[in-house]
Amino acid sequence: MIAAGKFGTFFGINQQTFDRVWSQLTDPSGNSLVYISMEIGADPDVFNPVRDRLLLTPGPEVLDSQWAAFYEKFVRGPQKIPTYSGGLGVLAGDTLKSYADCHLPVVAISLLYRRGYFSQYVDSQIGQISQHVLWQPEATPCLYQLHEPEAPEKPLEIKIPFFNEYNQQTVAIAQVWMKMEISSDLDFFVPEILLDFARPESPSLIRNAASQLYNAESSMIKAIQRRMLGTGILPALRALGITSRTFHLNEQHGIVLAMQLIAEELTAMLQHPHIELARDEQIFKAAEAVSQRLVYTIHTPVKAGHDRFNKSLYAGINEKSCQRILDLLAHDDENPHAYNFTHMAMHVNRSANSVSRLHRDVTRRQFPRFASKISAITNGVHHLTWISSQRARVFDSTPQLSGWRHDPGVFGQAGELIGDDPFRERLRSAWEQDTQQLISYVNTMLIEHRNQMSTTWIDPPNYLSTLGDGKDRLDPRSFTVGFARRFSTYKRADLIFHDVDQLCEICVINNWPINFLYSGKAHPADEPGKTVIKHLLDRQEELYRKSEGLVKLVFIPNYDMKIAKMLVAGVHCWLNSPKRPLEASGTSGMKAAMNGVPNISIMDGWWVEGYHDGATGWKFGHEGAVDSASLSESREELLYFEDSSSFYELLPLILDAFYDKTNSRIFLDKGINNLLLNIPIFNTHRMAAEYLQRYGLVLPAARTREMERFAQLYCSDI
Ligand SMILES: *Cc1c(COP(=O)(O)O)cnc(C)c1O
Repeated sequence: MIAAGKFGTFFGINQQTFDRVWSQLTDPSGNSLVYISMEIGADPDVFNPVRDRLLLTPGPEVLDSQWAAFYEKFVRGPQKIPTYSGGLGVLAGDTLKSYADCHLPVVAISLLYRRGYFSQYVDSQIGQISQHVLWQPEATPCLYQLHEPEAPEKPLEIKIPFFNEYNQQTVAIAQVWMKMEISSDLDFFVPEILLDFARPESPSLIRNAASQLYNAESSMIKAIQRRMLGTGILPALRALGITSRTFHLNEQHGIVLAMQLIAEELTAMLQHPHIELARDEQIFKAAEAVSQRLVYTIHTPVKAGHDRFNKSLYAGINEKSCQRILDLLAHDDENPHAYNFTHMAMHVNRSANSVSRLHRDVTRRQFPRFASKISAITNGVHHLTWISSQRARVFDSTPQLSGWRHDPGVFGQAGELIGDDPFRERLRSAWEQDTQQLISYVNTMLIEHRNQMSTTWIDPPNYLSTLGDGKDRLDPRSFTVGFARRFSTYKRADLIFHDVDQLCEICVINNWPINFLYSGKAHPADEPGKTVIKHLLDRQEELYRKSEGLVKLVFIPNYDMKIAKMLVAGVHCWLNSPKRPLEASGTSGMKAAMNGVPNISIMDGWWVEGYHDGATGWKFGHEGAVDSASLSESREELLYFEDSSSFYELLPLILDAFYDKTNSRIFLDKGINNLLLNIPIFNTHRMAAEYLQRYGLVLPAARTREMERFAQLYCSDI
């Protein structure tokens, strides 16, 4: 399980596997892909096949010392890699895990943030408090610092011409790390190259921009961060000998790569390096050639997600010779003084895609000039990461589902399970165990928060922590709803608490208890987002009192993948209440669906495709045409009254189905329908197969057949 390469020694795969993958990535044909993302979320605590295998092998006492050190690290080392903020990063991680499972020759590139994103504390008086994350890449399993091929004691470094805050030319140095995404069978891997620009010898502005994901102190820092990703790609690949010809931009953050590729193309075309002398049509011609190598995924219609930089600011930190490339390709329709990186990404690609069908229609409307080339590839999630171990055991022991770990399509062939009473009973029991596990986690947390009052200055975030006599506990038999995601205004976390009286009345009249479990971070600079968190905390006591103790709203601080996994499997329903059509896809609801948990959702993003006329859950809210829908996030446009009223109409139906024992088949029917109808669609193996069609990679015949089979599970773009 130990493999040595030119740049380090790696754990979890054998030498033969390592050599095979590395030779594919360094093959002169360039038949491999570079996947570029500002963030990658793949915490080892939710998915780590190497650790799982180790736990089945003898303990470290019988192993040699190198083995023992790896064993210790993988089994007992820290299990977090906090280099993601939300859905975009988690999607990247899930995608790469599927690429590894499907044996696709892919290398990923991102940045290594020494201060991660941020840790969230929540105080009932203050709301969200953000703190730097302190984590140790050195101690973290699956993560390796690469070294110089000839000198194992010297870290591998790349040097990039850069600019400091005084617009002076300088050099940015990055050390190169590698996270390995190893396939579930330990027979393949996808390397994720992480560039650490936060070197003590770098200028402070560069260090600052490099140490924290989405640092929003200034637009200068933001521009530098994007530039670090984009300009680091080619030097890093070359230092490693990686030859890939095709690049996939997961969002436009790394688009500066296109500028660099165009500059190289022009140098070759002109046969001299003075590309500032190129004529416009030569620049367009070079851009056309580069377009053939780029695949671009756009992830949001929300303007804040589209990078724009003031031209004069950007000119200060960019190669002068490349200015005209941006002038011609990064035009902003609304502001002649800005560069628009989304526009540039739309321009320079061979394939541009949205992340759901509805989002495709919105994106076409937003970028009419590029409408004809925008298609849909609906997102998915990595089923092996998100299906709880309780549920996985049920699937493992169900003959109709044999092979589900390798092929999520098998769920589509198992229609008879809906009438199979022993299967229903086993699934129900697994669900109940997941609920109990989740509720006991929350109950323990509530008590810990109360105890922390005497040791920290933080007021417990939850009203329940202040109650005694067992009133501070949740009951797993109560209808439990989950909501967890980033706190952006358009996601409307507080939508269903718009009219507390109405919500409480529904519960009191029928004596229906409900647990609402909420979690999520707001970007530290997003004041409206933080206000939504505070607003939720401020409703807790009122909800509890007005419902006579029936409605319990609990906020779980410091949302991460582990909490996500527990929530999506343990709740009875997953709630999604964004303002249509601003949720381009959404993936947390897919994670619930993988566990057979129904969604209650606005008809937005993936749910338009996953709802199946109600077979898998419930819908509510305004469903107007997308061509006239507002894309604004201003409060008046967010339809709080209209969509919350629709929720209050729906809620009694759902609660009746849950509590009325004569209706007892409804929940499990919807649950099983999620397995049968949604797992085959919303998994990243299928998504990988659809992307593969855009990449133009050549694979061995058996692989090609397998990927074609996955591609046939669904066609996103109809
Ligand atoms: C899945 C996930 C998200 C994304 O949720 P959405 O519903 O797409 O907003 C964000 N954060 C974490 C930790 C996740 O696991």
